[in-house]
Amino acid sequence: MAEVNKGRKTLGIDVDSTLAESMETFINIYNRKYRKTAKLSDLMEYDLTKSLGISKAEMRAIFEETWHEWKKIPIVDSRIPGYVNSLAEKYYIKIITYNDTKDANLKKWLSKHGIQYGEIVYEIPESKWMHCDAIIDDYPKVIDAADRMGKLCIFLRKPWSNQAELELSGRVLKLSNWSEIYGHLISKEVYDQI
Ligand SMILES: [Mg+2]
Repeated sequence: MAEVNKGRKTLGIDVDSTLAESMETFINIYNRKYRKTAKLSDLMEYDLTKSLGISKAEMRAIFEETWHEWKKIPIVDSRIPGYVNSLAEKYYIKIITYNDTKDANLKKWLSKHGIQYGEIVYEIPESKWMHCDAIIDDYPKVIDAADRMGKLCIFLRKPWSNQAELELSGRVLKLSNWSEIYGHLISKEVYDQI
């Protein structure tokens, strides 16, 4: 899998809610553990510790369990492998995610879906920008930090992102699906401006 970044620009891609539709599994585990009946639509806040009233450690533990169930986690869009593998001819692909507890299971999930990548990087949201020239993420905190550092930012909109995206700068591309994301990133004009 190791690939040399032959002068190509690096594209960073987030995992949870960007490639993997993992929040449904996350909510199910949360409900099971805490005897709750939360639904995905209850997640109006990006900060899960706030919207669910749990600590960071608890959130981490639930994410770890979520990825134990990697076989149940659907892909956000069945066309993603085709898009990412096509983009991999132009860009060096880095999968950039926060929670390192999912490492082995994430690799299995990526392999199951046939998604090609150069490497996986584990990084806190505020510093993901350090590892790439352009970034795709659904978390406003990641996008805001990357935008301030002059990176090309693609914010993947989610049903719960209406309020959050209003606070992002006009430079950020706010897109609703992978077909739009691919259309932008594959264009020569976009590549040249990164
Ligand atoms: Mg995410």
